[in-house]
Formats: sequence, C-alpha cells, structure tokens
Amino acid sequence: MMNLRAMFKCWLLPACVGALAAACIWGTGGGQAQPREQATGGAADPAALAPLPQAAPPAEDGKLRIIVFGGHPDDCELDAGGTAARWAALGHKVKFVSCTNGDIGHWRMAGGPLALRRRTEVQRCAQILGIETEVLDIHDGELMVTMENRRTICRLIREWRADVVISHRPNDYHPDHRYTGQLVMDAAYMVTVPYFCPDTPYLTRNPVFLFSEDGFQRPNPFTADVVVPIDEVIERKLACVDALESQFYEGGCNGGPELVPDPSDSAAVAARRQQVREQFAARFAAVADRHRQKLAEFCGADAARKVRYAEAFEICEYGRRPSDQELRTLFPFFERSK
Ligand SMILES: [Zn+2]
Repeated sequence: MMNLRAMFKCWLLPACVGALAAACIWGTGGGQAQPREQATGGAADPAALAPLPQAAPPAEDGKLRIIVFGGHPDDCELDAGGTAARWAALGHKVKFVSCTNGDIGHWRMAGGPLALRRRTEVQRCAQILGIETEVLDIHDGELMVTMENRRTICRLIREWRADVVISHRPNDYHPDHRYTGQLVMDAAYMVTVPYFCPDTPYLTRNPVFLFSEDGFQRPNPFTADVVVPIDEVIERKLACVDALESQFYEGGCNGGPELVPDPSDSAAVAARRQQVREQFAARFAAVADRHRQKLAEFCGADAARKVRYAEAFEICEYGRRPSDQELRTLFPFFERSK
C-alpha cells in the first residue's frame, strides 16, 4: 500500500503533473467532455491547439435583435407577441423559441401529432407577427436544467446575436417555465465567455435579459421595469390567440369536449371564438391597468391614460444593466422623454 509520503511524491512526478494538466484542459463538468484550449502557453504543443474561438460579428444593419424563450408553443406569443409585432414593424429582428414541443398540452391528443400541430400554430403566429420561430424537440413537462440544455440556450442566443433576451422568471408555476427561466439566466454572461461552447462564436457584449410577467408572489413578485403599449398591434396579438387553437379555442390540457362546439354549427363556432377573444382582450387590458403608473413614466400621464393594452417586462440582474436611455433605445416605442 502506498503511504502518504509516497502519494505526495507521486503528484510531483512529471507524468502525474501532465495527467493533471490534461484533466484541466479537458473539461468534465457533466455530460460529454468538451475540449478546451489553454489560455496561456505552457508546456502544451502549440500545433495541437485548435484555433481560438471567434467572436460573433455585430449586426451591421442598425436593427435590434431580440430572442424570446417560452416553456411551450404559446408562451412567447402571450407574453411578448404585441411587443414583438411592434419591434418587427420597425424592422427589428425577433425570434421566439419554445423550449418544449408541447406534446402533452391537450385533453384529447398527445405525442407527435400534437407537437406537429402546435408547431404549425406558432408558425402561423410568426407570420402574423412578422418574426421567426423555433420549437425545440423536448417533451412537454420534461424540460430539465442540464448542461446540454444550457449549451443549447447559449448557442441560440449567440446565433441570433441577441441584444435583448426575454424569458419566464424562475419562480413561475409550471416546471417547464421555471426551468426555461433558469436555463436562460444560466446562459446570461456565459454567452460572452469564449471557451464556453467554443463551437459557437461568443458575444462580446452581454445582452439585456428581461423577464416576462407572471402573478406569482414568492419569493418575490414581478416588478415592471418597462411597459409597452400594444394597442396598435392588438388585432395581431388576438389573431395569434385565435391561431393557437389547440390551446385556447379547445382549452389545451385542461380543456374538454364541452368547450368545442360542433364544427357544422357556425353560430356556435363564432360564439366560442368571440368568447376566447374577449377573455384574452380583458387579460391584455389588465396588464395596462396594473402598470399604468410605470406606463406614465415612459410615455407621459396623458398618453398612459389612453393605453388599453400592454405587455410588461422586468430586467434580470444577470444581463447587461441598461440605463433609462438605453432601455428607450431597446424599446423604441416612446416618443417623449419623461
Ligand atoms: Zn407554458
């Protein structure tokens, strides 16, 4: 048996030092080991080192780039559909990402057919809003905070060269929402670290990360830092609600056959569509009512009083912390300064 002195000596042997260095170069933090280049010279053979990762070039068209993450194929649309339509109308680039495929989100159907149906629904929404959309092929209800998923989120933010990133807060009611929020928070800052995910060009500037609104109070309630009037695009947002038929017209996983009229009864179908529209119009109006004081900070008290529909966002501390002036640049919807 090797005594302590002998073990200590062993660490000093060059072969052991070399093995230790190799272990440090090849990260083993969960999942598949990723090769990392040495940051400084040392004893490694320079010829064996891969080229340095390249930073993503900045977008040069003067347009903002926004990426929104939601747990399911309907969350981004509900949380940020109006603001996305306003950005898109100004020529800015918006992408929605659903972190699961929504394949258990219905009372009557599930699996592949539902996932395909829901992807088609959000693709229709993307057309309505003038944006891009992507659905990750992860089962609904099974999203986990893994290294693989952190890398996926990091790559998506980098590939979009995002200026703004929006997600759920990590204390939302649904595990897929919570873990989406956690994964996106975990990607904040790491998107700027060159040797994290060196296969995808890193960002040289941490984006501004924001949370979409929820009503949960613990451990802390949502605080609106920016509120966007969406009156001028409300018809587009309500058209998305209509397009997300499996979730709202049919009621999603908590719906039932009593919600869905006989398709041949056109009056009943129209009444059901109107009922859904009114429910959601009231929900979007309640956002403006809740945050009218904050609205007034951005657009003045007179204009704020006239706003009927809004969306609200909270700044995440882990992204870049925008000044009030930068916030107005990133949300270029307000004519007057306070
Ligand atoms: Zn959801």
